Amino acid sequence: MTKTKIIDGKALSQKIREELKAKVASFPSAPCMAVVLVGDNPASQIYVHHKMKAAEEVGIQVKLFSLAPVLTEDALIDFIRNLNADDNIDGIIVQLPLPKHMDSYRVVESIDPDKDIDGLCSQNLGKLFTGRPGLVPCTPLGCMALIKSVIPKLDGKRAVIVGRSCLVGKPVGQLLLEEQCTITQAHSHTKDLESVCKEADILVVAAGKPNLIQKNHVKKGAVIIDVGINRTEDGHIVGDVDFIGVQGVARAITPVPGGVGPMTVAMLLSNVVKVYVQKKLGQKA
Ligand code: NAD
Repeated sequence: MTKTKIIDGKALSQKIREELKAKVASFPSAPCMAVVLVGDNPASQIYVHHKMKAAEEVGIQVKLFSLAPVLTEDALIDFIRNLNADDNIDGIIVQLPLPKHMDSYRVVESIDPDKDIDGLCSQNLGKLFTGRPGLVPCTPLGCMALIKSVIPKLDGKRAVIVGRSCLVGKPVGQLLLEEQCTITQAHSHTKDLESVCKEADILVVAAGKPNLIQKNHVKKGAVIIDVGINRTEDGHIVGDVDFIGVQGVARAITPVPGGVGPMTVAMLLSNVVKVYVQKKLGQKA
């Protein structure tokens, strides 16, 4: 039985953050990221804390705006427009989910596309899908870096992506397509998920369903990227893949936690630096 390699997202993210830190140290000023947090969702507070800590460690200045959940959608959009107009702010994130009375799509669309470091507005997604340079969503960028750390040349590989959200599944599919992979986008209506997944040299799973992918879904030697984050009844965080079950079948797999999560944060910082380099230094990132 071949040993399955554990793809260490924490170590790779650390390496990327060190490279960003060195780059930022050479800049004439610190890049600045605005973080907009509406309400007091505990999970969002934790995510924001991680992003802020990581940003400050690489020398990116962070401005946190914690706004009351009673704010109207229009007031939030006005607030974002002021951040758009502020030359001191290079990148903006609005932590999702927003309170139920707000339309996330409309709010995300109000971010200046050139400052949209989450890469989620329709202009940036449109650029991605039409092959033009723009800001790319962070989790998909992280998935690609993890895949390339084990398969440097992706040309001609068969990739299956389980999930079709705009946040993860669709952009990952597009990025793999750009790398000349042949892709299949599977989702909740896919028939016979097992045979579909079994064709994959690269299997990216972003469904949010613990143990959805078992040993029998995996082709021998496949590389698995487990994007899922699920909390078990006993409080543990697990992915979408039966991590133990696929050992010895998969060639490599990302753990949860410690795989895609840290890479998402590293890629967010990379997007801030990209915006700064383009805007403030006038260079191509
Ligand atoms: P989503 O709910 O928007 O999309 C889930 C997708 O999975 C849908 O397209 C759906 O069709 C598909 N799906 C659901 N059940 C399925 C099934 N039984 N078989 C096949 N496909 C199925 O979720 P999302 O925002 O794309 O996130 C997916 C997962 O990734 C979640 O667990 C989320 O927490 C996690 N996530 C992790 C990170 C990270 O940084 N690690 C970032 C974003 C999302």
